[in-house]
Amino acid sequence: MICPYCHRVVSKVVDKRDNNESGVTRRRRECLNCKKRFTTYERVETISLNVHKRSGKVEEFDREKLKKGIMKAVKKRDLTERQIDDLLDDIELKLLNRKTTIVKSTEIGQMVLTRLKKLDTIAYLLFASVYRDFNTIEDFEQAIKELKTK
Ligand SMILES: [Zn+2]
Repeated sequence: MICPYCHRVVSKVVDKRDNNESGVTRRRRECLNCKKRFTTYERVETISLNVHKRSGKVEEFDREKLKKGIMKAVKKRDLTERQIDDLLDDIELKLLNRKTTIVKSTEIGQMVLTRLKKLDTIAYLLFASVYRDFNTIEDFEQAIKELKTK
């Protein structure tokens, strides 16, 4: 939080008041640099995004569901929940910054894959196998080939 007086980012919360009805949290802060006090208002941003599924159905974006799907697919790997959360934060931020509120499920899957690839190639293959419906060993070979060429 940037101090409006000296523009430093060091501040501590001296008083917090939740206002659940409006979803706004009011915080009284004190700048650790210039000691001046100021108030911030925080609003929880809820992401309203519709996912266009391959089946043709449109569903609301469900972060928890996506998270569970990823965790389930890569559970044998050493990825932490924190890493998965960071990955999802990154994707959500990207989606929020778009002008459109509809996204294809295949696009989200691809976004997950791009990020998993950087984290762990085996996790990438595991998720790809679920997400792209791998049925044969050739599907895996093809995915590994893609990994090597990109
Ligand atoms: Zn200050």
